[in-house]
Amino acid sequence: MKVTIASPREEKRREKGKEAANNLLEQWKSKAREGEKKKKLIWLELTGCAGNIISLLNGIDPGLEELLQKQIDLCYNNSLMTAEGDQAMKQLFTTADDEFILAVEGAVTTKDEQYNSIGRYQGRLISAMEAIQYLGQRAKSVIAVGTCATYGGISAAHPNPSGSISVIKALQNIRSDVISLPGCPSHPDWFLGTLAYLILYGTSPTLDSENRPILFYGLTIHDNCTRRSFFEKRIFARQLGEQTCMIALGCRGPITRTDCPTREWNSYLNWPIGANTPCIGCAHRTFPDGTSPFVQYERSATSTEASKENNKRRK
Ligand code: SF4
Repeated sequence: MKVTIASPREEKRREKGKEAANNLLEQWKSKAREGEKKKKLIWLELTGCAGNIISLLNGIDPGLEELLQKQIDLCYNNSLMTAEGDQAMKQLFTTADDEFILAVEGAVTTKDEQYNSIGRYQGRLISAMEAIQYLGQRAKSVIAVGTCATYGGISAAHPNPSGSISVIKALQNIRSDVISLPGCPSHPDWFLGTLAYLILYGTSPTLDSENRPILFYGLTIHDNCTRRSFFEKRIFARQLGEQTCMIALGCRGPITRTDCPTREWNSYLNWPIGANTPCIGCAHRTFPDGTSPFVQYERSATSTEASKENNKRRK
């Protein structure tokens, strides 16, 4: 069951943030004309689970079909393209000779290339590092999609046998303007909105100190949470399923910046806290080592405090 407990003023504030991003997508859609030269996009999948490209397939406004028909020319993506082998690699490197936007999901392995290579070209295995550096210095813009690409994420989690690093780090000597869209996965609108901005204005949207678009990452989940009033009143859930503030269960909403509470997921139907699970901080730079355990019972100082508070209320 979805819980929405917020004052009309809070609702209005949330809607306003969502509206700004949606207007951008509308503007983009209305400007796109069939037959107009589409921007070339390369979407590279490195060390990760391919969750971000799958998430993009869930985009509905615009959906993938509209996106491909009117707005972009997706020249390379190993999950979606029909070409394979040398033909696919040739397409990748031919696109790199022209103007293109590069989206990358997954981290970059620094150890043996057996951990991640993108394919064989002209008889030679191309490692993830080689590919990202080659394409990264030629791309007009680079977007790191998802937490692995942005911070290393699960791919770089302890003990990190593949020596995975973020795309930002892999490109640090080449460029400092990589746009970060952390999230495990990244929301389709975060990518589509960023792409829309790049195409409409020819420049990045306003970014914060971690290169995340403020449009989507300007506030913490806690700032906009539908359960915030319970937090203020110190009414804390002690077990999963209780529809109050989940900070005592380890909710990472206070440290995680995304617009999940207003945007919601799966065709704008729901989001983790709305579905009664604490935020696990999947878009935070320390995820997952620093944000786990994802659910905890009465272990931290905060939860002990929360427990005392609840006991007082029950007496
Ligand atoms: S701690 Fe979590 S559940 Fe509680 S108000 Fe903040 S984001 Fe919502």
